Amino acid sequence: MTEEIDWASLPFGYVPTDYNVRCVYKDGKWGEIEISQSETINIHIAATALHYGQELFEGIKAFRGKDGKIRIFRLEENAKRIQSSAEGIMMAPVPEELFCKMCKMAVKLNERFVPPYGSGASLYIRPLEIGLSPRVGVAPASEYMFLVLVSPVGPYFKGGFRNTNICIMREYDRVAPKGTGRFKVGGNYAASLRAGHHAHELGYSAVLFLDPKEKKYLDECGPANFYAIKDGKYITPASESILPSVTNMSLQQLAKDMGIEVECRHITVDELSEVSEAAACGTAAVCSPIGEIDDLDTGKKYIIAKDGKPGPVTTALYNKLNAIRLGEEPDVHGWNTLVE
Ligand SMILES: *Cc1c(COP(=O)(O)O)cnc(C)c1O
Repeated sequence: MTEEIDWASLPFGYVPTDYNVRCVYKDGKWGEIEISQSETINIHIAATALHYGQELFEGIKAFRGKDGKIRIFRLEENAKRIQSSAEGIMMAPVPEELFCKMCKMAVKLNERFVPPYGSGASLYIRPLEIGLSPRVGVAPASEYMFLVLVSPVGPYFKGGFRNTNICIMREYDRVAPKGTGRFKVGGNYAASLRAGHHAHELGYSAVLFLDPKEKKYLDECGPANFYAIKDGKYITPASESILPSVTNMSLQQLAKDMGIEVECRHITVDELSEVSEAAACGTAAVCSPIGEIDDLDTGKKYIIAKDGKPGPVTTALYNKLNAIRLGEEPDVHGWNTLVE
């Protein structure tokens, strides 16, 4: 019973819900949408998803607003990105309309799992696509499954909005310079697990990866984008190997709305000594402010938050984006999709 769920203490994890929705691509076209109550799938032992990593996904959140309505944040942007990811690893792209329809269906069918307004929790939507065809030689599949599952997740900041520390380690790269970094594919995550684990063991929340070619510029921050505030400007890495984060894109717009200049450009490691704020950003946290960045190879420590607290720009951006997602403030950019 959902009445028994303690929404505010839910982790970011899997909670079984009532339904998931599925659609199979076969003979060059997408078939009928299937509503399923099963938590498992039955696939071929030689499926390309299992052998050659033909798997990609998305991550989106739905919220119960102040007015009781359910809103999905920037669904169309995720629909565009999943197509780009599909092209990146030779999978059949899910049409935007089908993507949006299935995500909305999955939310509607599991409406009782959308956490109440004020709980800080949300319904996480996880669309994923896998290659189904059996292949032993390396080649893309001709059949695919697109599936949307949902899971209620608790608030990201359980102990309140606060800083964490991250580190730079040059012994790991997340992706190759012209590789799959800009696509949201499972393989990138497998490739980052060891680095993430190492950082956690040392007490850091994430690794700030450097660009994989020259190791000179800041790149991706664990499984999130990175931005900093320098001389009052919002600066974020321009890189071929980072995933274009919808949250980062939204924060840039909100920063501009607040009269803050935005620069997408190479950021050198040295510049970290001149920034007044830094944060990781993504759907899970919106902004996860950074207190200190330790370069483990040079021994240099960049103390970002001199007073140990999240900075004013990050706090303002975080509050603004949350208010829009929750319907507390006007959605002037048309970012929310209502689920009716
Ligand atoms: C999903 C993801 C992000 C964040 O993207 P959002 O659209 O903001 O959720 C950033 N980096 C990586 C590697 C990701 O997979």
